[in-house]
Amino acid sequence: MSQVKAYRCGHGRDRGYTAPRVHPLHGNMIQVEAIPILRDNYVWAIHDGDGAVLVDPGEAEPILSWLDHRHMRLAAILVTHHHADHVGGIAALLRHRGATIPVYGRARGAVDARAVSEGEPLRLEAPALAFTVLETPGHTRDHVCFLGHGHLFCGDTLFSCGCGRLFEGTPAQMHASLMRLAALPDDTLICCAHEYTLANIAFALEAEPGNGELHARHTEALAARKAGRPTLPVSLARERATNPFLRCDRPKLARSIAQHTGHTPDPGVATFAALRAWKDTF
Ligand code: ZN
Ligand code: FE
Repeated sequence: MSQVKAYRCGHGRDRGYTAPRVHPLHGNMIQVEAIPILRDNYVWAIHDGDGAVLVDPGEAEPILSWLDHRHMRLAAILVTHHHADHVGGIAALLRHRGATIPVYGRARGAVDARAVSEGEPLRLEAPALAFTVLETPGHTRDHVCFLGHGHLFCGDTLFSCGCGRLFEGTPAQMHASLMRLAALPDDTLICCAHEYTLANIAFALEAEPGNGELHARHTEALAARKAGRPTLPVSLARERATNPFLRCDRPKLARSIAQHTGHTPDPGVATFAALRAWKDTF
């Protein structure tokens, strides 16, 4: 019982999210759940009720509680990038659940991950899952996203109504990474690593005050947070309609930037760079 409590109370008011859709390769139904950790991170669990694959376990204790409570086996770990809030729990998870559990990613230094690369499909056995790896430099140089079963696990590259800060990459790299994600199918469910949606919307409303869909998303996100629910996942179609960082070709966005900075950037990378710089000081 204490384990249930630890999961429910552990560092957040959120309850896990359970995806309504399932896309099994074969065998049991696959579910996707968000486990809140640290201050505002989500660890995404992709599972078939027996084995779970975890994305970015930045902390071990709430994950161990979640696994115990569900009687779930830890099958594999996926890592989007090397920041501590994404890899910090891995060593303890392997110590408690088995050193042979595979870790996949391109994260440098912090973890001993099996390298994944763009274009090399990642197939797992139990649960039977298949992911496409997308290299998305910008937030960090080693950042990758995992696409599979209708869900995109995008770490700190794409957030709902926002995007990651440029710690290592250039605006051109991040813009290119985001444009690649934006080209995925409309109904792709975006599973990012942080609950930043409301703060991102506050900025997005400054950048695009006339965006009706953004106002609707704001109302919905406020209600979700009030009820203790994650604002994620969100469909890519919704993000394209509301996330200013995916809308850098919009003249209205360029005009907002001009009002703020005094000059109008060209559409594309220049608009993205100006928008990111504006948000950094917002
Ligand atoms: Zn990060
Ligand atoms: Fe992070």
